[in-house]
Amino acid sequence: MEHKKETHSFKTEVKQFMHLIINSLYSNREIFLRELISNASDAIDRLSFKAQTDAKLLEEGAEFKIKITPDKTARTLTLSDNGIGMTYEEVVENIGTIAKSGTAAFMQAIENAKNQNTLAPELIGQFGVGFYSAFIVADKITIVTKAAGETTATRWESTGDGEYTIEPAEKPSRGTDIILKLKPVEKDEQDFTEEWTLRQVVKKHSDFVNYPVVMDVERVETETSDDGKPILGPDGKPVKKPPVIQEETLNSMKAIWAKDKKDVTDEEYKDFYSHISHDWNPPLTWFHWKLEGVTEYNALLYIPSQAPFDLFMPERKHGAQLYCRRVFIMDDCKELIPSYLRFIKGVVDAPDLNLNISREILQQDALVRNIHKNLIKKILDALDQLPAEEFEKFYNEFGAVLKEGIHSDWANRDRLAKLARFKTTQSDGKWVSLTEYAARMKPDQNDIYYMTGDSLASIINSPHLEALKEKDFEVLLMTDPVDEFIIQAMPEFEKKKFKSAEKGDLDIDKVDETKKAAFSSLFEKIKSLLADQVKEVKPSSHLRDSVSCLSGDTYDASAYMEKLLKATGQTVPAVKRILELNVNHPVMEKIQSIFEKNQEDVALKDYSLLLYDLATVSEGGKIENPARFSRQIGELMAKALG
Ligand code: ADP
Repeated sequence: MEHKKETHSFKTEVKQFMHLIINSLYSNREIFLRELISNASDAIDRLSFKAQTDAKLLEEGAEFKIKITPDKTARTLTLSDNGIGMTYEEVVENIGTIAKSGTAAFMQAIENAKNQNTLAPELIGQFGVGFYSAFIVADKITIVTKAAGETTATRWESTGDGEYTIEPAEKPSRGTDIILKLKPVEKDEQDFTEEWTLRQVVKKHSDFVNYPVVMDVERVETETSDDGKPILGPDGKPVKKPPVIQEETLNSMKAIWAKDKKDVTDEEYKDFYSHISHDWNPPLTWFHWKLEGVTEYNALLYIPSQAPFDLFMPERKHGAQLYCRRVFIMDDCKELIPSYLRFIKGVVDAPDLNLNISREILQQDALVRNIHKNLIKKILDALDQLPAEEFEKFYNEFGAVLKEGIHSDWANRDRLAKLARFKTTQSDGKWVSLTEYAARMKPDQNDIYYMTGDSLASIINSPHLEALKEKDFEVLLMTDPVDEFIIQAMPEFEKKKFKSAEKGDLDIDKVDETKKAAFSSLFEKIKSLLADQVKEVKPSSHLRDSVSCLSGDTYDASAYMEKLLKATGQTVPAVKRILELNVNHPVMEKIQSIFEKNQEDVALKDYSLLLYDLATVSEGGKIENPARFSRQIGELMAKALG
């Protein structure tokens, strides 16, 4: 496609974001270099992955590198990589917008940081805006990039003040040059055109980058005589040769996952984490394994300290990278780590892997399958062994994801059920494991009770729990959407059945048979009056203080499930529910006496509707006719108050 020079504005959120990161990261300016080197290294990774199926992409050569070129006079710093590069469209797409799906989360963060003019660094790392950090040190950035296999290049330029230009350009070779026009150096600040500064920053933050990060350095050697001794000049000092420029590699490229644990410092582990994850927070913890034997692999895996904003977005990438003998094979490797552990970031290096393996057949590869199985086991073992406090932090962030495994990974269902935690009617906001729950079940309690809903507040006071509370039976309060699915995948735990507190009979206290009989014709009447609303009217085994509630048959969808399905746009078959009435409540006795006097009394219809509305309100549902409800309540109050 033909393009000419165009000027665009940054999206508003980008402008706000740039302003914030420049202010927030000022004291940490050197990390811009790590971000740009990481981007360059990713770009090379992506090229080498793509070239596995399209060798033509490497026709310029496969000697990958990232080059840093400082220019003291022009005060520029150029970062060049010979990675995959970007097409015109990709530049428009990638630079100048915030990672698309993150916009909402990002706007929220801005909102929260509004009055501070700064953003906590731990928030910044989450939005994939590494590139913009270069505006901390640069007052103009130029990108010249050519995608591998393309003929035209693209030039992007911005002074970071809200606009950028984009136009076709010339570039002899594939890859990306990022040219920073550096701001003047203030007193005591690092000068990023200084060789020493650049060496130090690369060593500190990017040492393990998998490709050489090189820089031209001036070497001055001394003249030596044939026997290797320095030749001295008339002033008695060694005579120097004319300076030569040499390209020097600044990073050691040591794959830390291949090292021995004892040879890696915590700092190195953390730096490696920020390199692979683009997360600027330190990880919560990491696991470093070397497995030998039939299934041989090295793995270095991290648990982030914070859940990323896109954890539940379907397009989210997995954080596992696959290597073979330190050669990058692919990232986002779903075949290694199951979806319910998708928050884990890190590297798996399998020396015996077939290098030509394609993504499509990865899943069938016996070695990959063994590693997959083995990794799950090791990760679950490691989670089991986390100190309680760390486990809790982990669970707060990722528990809802981990639980998905109960539904999706049958082989490990029991282990995952043991790792799962729930809040309960008796846990006072704390997490309880099913093992703990089972251990403190009452002697006359046979089942594990649970109740689902969208917030603790809405279910903890639900009338369905009244009888259970009176019995002092603990009830699991399940508020994650996934809970509905896992409960179906896990009919029992340690031979104890799960029983919904809102569905079916609780089988704890039987309703008195004579009472039941006494109310039976009234209940028939109410059922006929509410034929449009409910499928049955029956005496309740749930209620103590409340007069009515709605319940389902054991196999009906719960109220929360229905809400969830509706929220995802699915059509929910209209299942009528059961109206449960409390035959020990004085209101029921009063209605009974009206009924006994005149079975056709019009008030019966009003009261029936009111009982139904009360049941709906008590579970946080929407009543059909709020105006009628409020009028009826008003009339009743007027009567009661005389
Ligand atoms: P992130 O790297 O976290 O996605 P950035 O804002 O740093 O966010 O970069 C945005 C996107 O621009 C990257 O995801 C990548 O697609 C593209 N990009 C950045 N630098 C390069 C590069 N050196 N070569 C190719 N593409 C790049």
